[in-house]
Amino acid sequence: MSQQGYVAAPPYSQAQPGIGGYQGGFGAPPAQPLYGHYGGPPQGFNAPPAGVMKSPPTSPAGMPPSPVSSQYNPSVQQNGAHPQRYASPSAASPPYGQPSHSVYNNMASPAPPTQQLANQMSAMNLGSYGAMQSQPLPPTSSVAQQHFQTPAPAMGQPQMHPAPQAPHMASQNQMSPPQSPLTNMLASGQPMGGQSMAGPPMGGQSMAGPPMGGQSMAGPPMGGQSMAGPPMGGQSMTGPPMAGMNMPFPGPPPSGQGAFQQHGTGPAAPSGYPQQSGQFGGLMSGPQPGMSGGFPGTSGGLAGPPQKKLDPDSIPSTTQVIEDDKARLGGHVFSTNMRGQVPPLVTTDFTVQDQGNASPRFIRCTTYSLPCTAELAKQCQVPLASVIKPFAKLPKNETPLYVVNHGETGPIRCNRCKAYMCPYMQFIDGGRRYQCSFCNCVSEVPVFYFQHLDHMGRRVDFYERPELSQGSYEFVATLDYCKNNKPPNPPAYIFMIDVSYTNIKSGLVKLVCDELKSLLEKLPREDGAEASAIKVGFVTYNKVLHFYNVKSALAQPQMMVVSDIAEMFVPLLDGFLVNYQDSRAVIYNLLDQIPDMFADTNESETVFAPVIQAGVEAFKAAECSGKLFIFHSSMPTAEAPGKLKNRDDKKLVNTDKEKTLFQPQKGVYEQLSKDCVAQGCCVDLFLFPSQYLDLASMADVPSHTGGSVYKYNNFQVKTNLYVLLLKLATRFFAQCRVCDPPGFRATDFFGAIYMNNTTDVEMAAVDCDKAVTVEFKHDDTLSEESGAFMQCALLYTTISGQRRLRIHNLSLNCTSQLSELYKCCETDSLINFFAKSAYRAILNQPVKNVRDILVNQTAHMLACYRKNCASPSAASQLILPDSMKVFPVYMNSLMKTAPLVGSTELSTDDRAHQRLSVMAMGVEDSQLQLYPRLIPLHNVDVSREAVPDPVRCSEERLSDSGLFLLENGHSIFLWLGQASPPDLIQSLFNAPSLAHLQQEHMFTLPELDNPLSKKVRTIISELLEKRPNSMKLQIVRQRDKLEMLFRQFLVEDKGLHGGASYMDFLCYVHREIRQLLT
Ligand SMILES: [Zn+2]
Repeated sequence: MSQQGYVAAPPYSQAQPGIGGYQGGFGAPPAQPLYGHYGGPPQGFNAPPAGVMKSPPTSPAGMPPSPVSSQYNPSVQQNGAHPQRYASPSAASPPYGQPSHSVYNNMASPAPPTQQLANQMSAMNLGSYGAMQSQPLPPTSSVAQQHFQTPAPAMGQPQMHPAPQAPHMASQNQMSPPQSPLTNMLASGQPMGGQSMAGPPMGGQSMAGPPMGGQSMAGPPMGGQSMAGPPMGGQSMTGPPMAGMNMPFPGPPPSGQGAFQQHGTGPAAPSGYPQQSGQFGGLMSGPQPGMSGGFPGTSGGLAGPPQKKLDPDSIPSTTQVIEDDKARLGGHVFSTNMRGQVPPLVTTDFTVQDQGNASPRFIRCTTYSLPCTAELAKQCQVPLASVIKPFAKLPKNETPLYVVNHGETGPIRCNRCKAYMCPYMQFIDGGRRYQCSFCNCVSEVPVFYFQHLDHMGRRVDFYERPELSQGSYEFVATLDYCKNNKPPNPPAYIFMIDVSYTNIKSGLVKLVCDELKSLLEKLPREDGAEASAIKVGFVTYNKVLHFYNVKSALAQPQMMVVSDIAEMFVPLLDGFLVNYQDSRAVIYNLLDQIPDMFADTNESETVFAPVIQAGVEAFKAAECSGKLFIFHSSMPTAEAPGKLKNRDDKKLVNTDKEKTLFQPQKGVYEQLSKDCVAQGCCVDLFLFPSQYLDLASMADVPSHTGGSVYKYNNFQVKTNLYVLLLKLATRFFAQCRVCDPPGFRATDFFGAIYMNNTTDVEMAAVDCDKAVTVEFKHDDTLSEESGAFMQCALLYTTISGQRRLRIHNLSLNCTSQLSELYKCCETDSLINFFAKSAYRAILNQPVKNVRDILVNQTAHMLACYRKNCASPSAASQLILPDSMKVFPVYMNSLMKTAPLVGSTELSTDDRAHQRLSVMAMGVEDSQLQLYPRLIPLHNVDVSREAVPDPVRCSEERLSDSGLFLLENGHSIFLWLGQASPPDLIQSLFNAPSLAHLQQEHMFTLPELDNPLSKKVRTIISELLEKRPNSMKLQIVRQRDKLEMLFRQFLVEDKGLHGGASYMDFLCYVHREIRQLLT
């Protein structure tokens, strides 16, 4: 087989024409394929570079905290609506220079009330996260099951065919503990269940069957079924792939067998992941025959006896990983004093103590141990990336960043590479000079900055200077850092409301005007300031623009109309941007009048680009930066720059031209983005569409200026439960630069950003939820001894108009051992990177290629681990690194997301919207998006404060008599089982039974005075408050039509619009890994 593997299955040994390798980015394909696996000789797996050691069969004690997964950490809450939390650190903390020992030391003590464990923690060796025993192996033969232990199936759920006990499993485990529980995942005796393996994970677009219907059927192997049906059509659960843990997998079927034919053939072969080598760099030539990823031969290997049902509990569980991490690290203090420490998961509640490295709230990495060489990176294909959320909110018990002010001198920087003073600079020569850790250049210490060194060679003022002892801090910038060397004016907000016919008639305009009144009261201000320095202005528009003079001296606001929308100008300067406090009366007057002013309008056409242009011009005139809040409903079809036309075409889905659906229309919006960034004009867009409006084009400016797009489909004022969530607290006119160590450089950036050159990220504004994902590549060999340093410097304007630099530093380990690299991976960050890179890639190539590449890379990463790090074991075992145990479920979920799934049933605008919103997400948000929380509420303990633990996102976990909450940061559902007990319905809805629930019940829970109602409403409102987006609660009854909406979030199940179940995907990946290893 192995010979055949090489001979007959060239995909791994030869780059396919036209595919090329990939640079990790999605740019032009490199001349030389970078990754040996895809493009290079097959030896990639056989001959690890010298120095790469297979991991010794060490104990699990060596495992890092398993990264990954999630549960929203309330303390990391990103809710843009709380401007006051943006307290200027300078006010909240002693002026820089003061933080003495005690300041740092006592950070450990303020244990959050929810975290009593912190006391215990203070005594423990904080640096030992990586060395903590993860989970002792249970001694009994039930070990196999325990490893995959998940919460008991939801109420009333029968346990599905438990996996047979494996008498010899325990010993097997002990033989190869490093591989984590997954070691035990033996494939069953049936060749990976022809049906499950054969189906391409994503092939199922055409699946029409009831989504999960037959899941519990344990039918015989159904060759014919899968042939006829969509690749994954055959009920995944019927396949026994994982069932008998003690049954050795008989090895992959001969390559001639139907199921695997695709591997052995060239480009002409129907589909076949292996051929999609390389990553997103190359272009596939021509469409793949065999529908959406084919997998035509599904009958192969199905001749076996009827197969037993697979136990869903036997595969790694995200909720379990999350719970384990919480149990292990929840409530602890994470002290950032060690290089390359893997932090707790984003879902774990922990306290960060900055001791020289940036908090994981600001920077997370795909791995905390970088491969020393490019070859090693190429071999494992683990992307090397950081997800930087520069203004992440800190919980109240963590110290805000210190602000360092060097006065007129400004921040101290390396003479050569311009890196900012940081804990990694080495002082030498008695403290008179320092050596830059980024470029090794030696610079003189300025006289005012001189300080003696102690016996350790450390400056004696080490603890008094944040820039020497902290991972994150800020510098006050000098005029050199200001535009035109002038101090910036405070920023301004302009509210721009579409007052065309539909919006007036629907009541939206009135709603927005009413909401604005209360929002204006919350304008952010610097700590200690009496009023906000931010100025505000108002514009309404349809085919023309109306500017308002709201100068405080006026009794009535005055309107000025600009109808020459081709040459946008601002008709008034004085009185347009005003101080809210001074002009409050006039502004209230205006907001009261606007709905009436346009009550009789017949104008249904709107403009859009001129509206943004007007904002830019206004900021230009006022010489300030700022933000536009635009409330808009329809496609801008009026004759004007940026006019759009309907180009929605479902026929393009699953063709080479599908990418055009995601591409913005060229021209006007491109230039507008540039103008906006140059002026520091960020655009937040609130859309209330009732039909297609070309979101890809309309969102182009927001997605390049650090803005957000909020989309409220079929918005109805009377059932309105949305809160317009305006991110008022924002930093402006930001430029971000990442300094790399020698041998390593940032090559690609993902986010709501604009790149004028290849190194400087520009954002007109940045808020607490926006993250930039940065990919790194080797230039040279990294040193294991010195490690790697990263510095992210962000120059920005505060809400009061002060220019500052925010610096985040992080040091990582470097290793020549793959096992170390894998040990330090973080699944949540990996998936954030993969999501963003895939979502960018679909702008340039067919969605199917992108999915194939994702699967390929998943298999390669895991195969490389198996090959180089795992101790020898049966080929039938699926072995996953502990840190990536649940990586496959996230990857599969990603491939089932709307942008990647390629279904004509999905709205083009929704797909484009999801694509763009993920691009700007931090790790917490992407984790939640890809693995929603499914929280059982029917058995909630009303006396406990905590939210019940989520269960796995699968129909298996639902029960007819259950009540579940599901939420992913964008949508929130309350699902009612059809046999919900009447008293439960009574308590929540004041109705005798489900059948009595009326339409008006479906969007809100009445405020009833009983413990259950209160508890459920509290849980929901807490979730709503935490999320960066506003979410509209939808109540669905089992078997209602709406249930389909709910079910698409059950990401472990087969996708409603295509895509494999988790189980099938895992089987498929396993098969791919085995192919790679043969
Ligand atoms: Zn330097």
